Amino acid sequence: MRFCCTLLVHRSQGGVLLKTQLHAQEPGVRQCCVRAIDIRRRAYARYSKFEVGCAIRGGDGEIHVGVNVENAAYPLCRCAEGNAIAGMVAQGVVQIEYVVIALRGGGSPCGGCRQIIWEFCQGNKDVKVYMVDDNGSDNPWVSVMTIGELLPNAFVL
Ligand SMILES: [Zn+2]
Repeated sequence: MRFCCTLLVHRSQGGVLLKTQLHAQEPGVRQCCVRAIDIRRRAYARYSKFEVGCAIRGGDGEIHVGVNVENAAYPLCRCAEGNAIAGMVAQGVVQIEYVVIALRGGGSPCGGCRQIIWEFCQGNKDVKVYMVDDNGSDNPWVSVMTIGELLPNAFVL
């Protein structure tokens, strides 16, 4: 790992993941990151305590948000990304500009969510997925990967 004031380069599994701090993001992305962090507080994660917030910039230019919603019957738990997309689709929007997820540690979307996100990228493998390490800091680290990097061989019909 190499550190400097606003950039962290993390090498893992042969890849290079660039991390920058929230304040270094361009204004639209920064706004979306803040929405993901804010909405994360509403996550219903009473079993795992692992709260996730998602904010998606849709093709309509609006931000669509979602949180993870758990259930006592574990298979019924729903991820934040899918819930944000469901709300976006209900608004008549079926195209994603970019995705932001906020969670402790800044991890990446689960495999299922990668496929769900891909469905609304309209074949564009360069759609960015920003991952915010929501650790309580007012300037958290943000890493970014494209959906093509996250899901190089998406399922298609
Ligand atoms: Zn998921």
